[in-house]
Amino acid sequence: METNNWLKAFDRPLTIAGPCSAESEAQMLEIARGLPKDKVEVFRAGIWKPRTKPNCFEGVGAIGLNWLSKVRDEFGYKISTEIANANHAKLALEYDVDILWIGARTTVNPFQIQEIAEALRDTDKIVLVKNPINPDLELWIGALERLNGQGIKNLGVIHRGFSTYKKDKYRNQPQWQIPLDLKNRLPEIPIICDPSHIAGNRELIHEISQKAMNFGFEGLMIETHVNPDEAWSDAQQQITPERLDEILKALKIREESDPDKDFHVQLESLRNQIDDTDTRILDMLYERMDISKNIGMLKKEHNVTVFQPKRWQNIQEQILEKASKHGLSEEFVNRFLTAVHQESIKIQNQIMGEN
Ligand code: PEP
Ligand code: MN
Repeated sequence: METNNWLKAFDRPLTIAGPCSAESEAQMLEIARGLPKDKVEVFRAGIWKPRTKPNCFEGVGAIGLNWLSKVRDEFGYKISTEIANANHAKLALEYDVDILWIGARTTVNPFQIQEIAEALRDTDKIVLVKNPINPDLELWIGALERLNGQGIKNLGVIHRGFSTYKKDKYRNQPQWQIPLDLKNRLPEIPIICDPSHIAGNRELIHEISQKAMNFGFEGLMIETHVNPDEAWSDAQQQITPERLDEILKALKIREESDPDKDFHVQLESLRNQIDDTDTRILDMLYERMDISKNIGMLKKEHNVTVFQPKRWQNIQEQILEKASKHGLSEEFVNRFLTAVHQESIKIQNQIMGEN
């Protein structure tokens, strides 16, 4: 991919801040006034908002472009907004918006990306592509290729996490391995982390931002609002300009030349793999106990005892054989399996006792 090194015009990390949504001119100017000028170089605000459900606030629309221009004129920030179709792209070019980003819900659709790429043909504006909502690295890279194919060379990506059915700690799972794989495949494309949409809440913004810095991400996009609780969209995840300043001051930035950087990146990457594996083990234990419950009910119905020594012996023999094939110690596997079996018996006993 033939790209330009646009990032060198910015400090490291490139910091983009501003509200999830533009709400009014006064709100935009107040936020811009509060931002730490020594650390933030780009002001963000969404004016066309992709919302999950209809009848929500869907953005102020094109009038927000005037407010963005005002922020640039009065405070000297570069300005950025999300574009989701060819019409948005044309309007953003007309208003000379410096950085355009393509949202996660748009990256998933190759027709829409192609249409946007053609509307932006040969632009020297910076175009940042958020990851698609589903964890598909090829789809993400495909969007970059479509843009690059239309002569767009100032490209970057934004990691904002991946959507899942079951929500846990994060609103969108970070799955760090995917942006790191992209970094390996396309080392010339700068990667910016959006901790706001990964977290979905204020408390995790610092932790996720630091993680991104440990991985050598080049920038951060953080949703910032003077009155986060009253924000018209994504209220729980926005932080005040003061809190943003605190977080940015506390961040440890690892330089490219840091001799320990590779070590940190590798360590973080391996720890993430451990976390993912532990989650899978827990999911499987849950599944196993669920099956066990069903067996308990069946045994109860047919008046059979919970503990079946022959079956237990069978399980042990089978697994111990597999364990040694996988290079796991018999003693460890036996201990693990006994604990699982005991829990299973306990659950089935409870079921037997129930009326
Ligand atoms: C946003 O940045 O406000 C936004 C809508 O993000 P995403 O596309 O990541 O959901
Ligand atoms: Mn948002």
